[in-house]
Amino acid sequence: MPSRERVYRTRAIVLKRREQGEADRVLTLFTPEYGKYRVLAKGVRKPTSRKAGHLEPFTHVALVLARGKTWDIITSAQSITTFRKLRENLSLTAYAYYFCELLDAFVPEEDPHPELYDLLLTAFRYLEQSPNPRLTARWFELALLQNVGFAPQLFQCVQCGQPLQPEINYFSCQRGGMLCPRHGEGAKDARPVPLNALKVLRYIQTQPYTAIIRLRLTPGTMRQVEKLLNDYLQHLLERRLKSKKFLRQLGMDPGR
Ligand SMILES: [Zn+2]
Repeated sequence: MPSRERVYRTRAIVLKRREQGEADRVLTLFTPEYGKYRVLAKGVRKPTSRKAGHLEPFTHVALVLARGKTWDIITSAQSITTFRKLRENLSLTAYAYYFCELLDAFVPEEDPHPELYDLLLTAFRYLEQSPNPRLTARWFELALLQNVGFAPQLFQCVQCGQPLQPEINYFSCQRGGMLCPRHGEGAKDARPVPLNALKVLRYIQTQPYTAIIRLRLTPGTMRQVEKLLNDYLQHLLERRLKSKKFLRQLGMDPGR
């Protein structure tokens, strides 16, 4: 249980939810102090519930919780920011779910990550105003990777350490970064990365969001950037899932 107190307060973002019993829901919360964990929202599916409106997905909410046997129980909920636009616009909803899922996948339960908490809130704010949600999503992916210690190496060859030259270089998901032509060409786990795509990735990794969101990319470069990040994330998550399974076989479950 996250808190020793019988009744305690926290701020939270609702990452996901599922129905439980007749009228309840189990919510997965992300909180600054206790990280990610599940709680019970009793009676929120009843039309008369006063809490329901404050416990929608993506809502930033102030909660009072009481310790329970399996899950702690929400006794009061007051939204701080509803991020209404993220629920009203289908495309933004899809992006917001994606942000939550990605964060959920990288963060183990009850592992506090206050910076990630701030990052997710910032990401929701940016997304609501974004002229280019696809680009906002790439920014979020790279910021999240940085935060959880998997930032891809985009400036030097991960094998020889030499700074990359302005030419076609290579990316390896397995090795978590770029390879120079000498080490990347013909390597089984590496793919060529056009110079423009590499420049964009570096820009997103190092520049402030206000500059990033003004980028104008050709559809081709956008697709290359998206595909590379997507494959890298997938690779990391599969590896993570595999190592979890392996540890479980040994009787040590890091997922709790
Ligand atoms: Zn090299």
